[in-house]
Amino acid sequence: MEIKKVCVFCGSSPGANAQYTKKAEELGLELTKRKIGLVYGGAKIGVMGRIADSVLKNGGEVIGVIPEALKLKEVAHEGLSKLHVVDNMHSRKALMYEISDAFIALPGGIGTLDEFFEILTWTQLGLHQKPCGLLNVCNYYDKLLDFLDHMVSEKFVTRRHREMLLVDDTPLKLLDKFFDYHPIQLKKWI
Ligand code: AMP
Repeated sequence: MEIKKVCVFCGSSPGANAQYTKKAEELGLELTKRKIGLVYGGAKIGVMGRIADSVLKNGGEVIGVIPEALKLKEVAHEGLSKLHVVDNMHSRKALMYEISDAFIALPGGIGTLDEFFEILTWTQLGLHQKPCGLLNVCNYYDKLLDFLDHMVSEKFVTRRHREMLLVDDTPLKLLDKFFDYHPIQLKKWI
């Protein structure tokens, strides 16, 4: 599978644990080493800003996608390789999806989950075969992963769909999993 650009969804806040931004920087470095460009929400704040700065510092490509209304509020990053300013949240997600070959969620809040789960829903519907992974820094997503297992037990999600979500706690191992990813064709409703 060829991966030229990875879209990273992550918090517009830095979070309580310094490891969240540290791992964002590590992911930025790992992407650059592999000559993979970063697609993200275009802000210079929080975990978002840290991953963008890391890729830029290491000489990589960063493409930001930000809605006009959030440009000031989220403090758009001025030093990116490219910044797309779009009309609204929907166009933001659509463009990020279109130009990316894979998706990662770092620790973040409701926005991060909204963006990531929309792409994961499309995986489940078979609309794309792009890998999706959670970077589970300091077990931040443990409770979410438990809840996904609960959804499987309660028969709202199939085990095979659950397994399509890749998870690891280091950028290196998560990206390795992306390159080994073999999408499975499964109907959502059987
Ligand atoms: P958060 O994880 O809540 O800090 O948000 C991370 C990013 O997600 C920020 O850039 C938010 O503007 C963005 N965001 C929040 N909700 C949405 C949405 N519905 N569609 C697209 N982006 C969103």
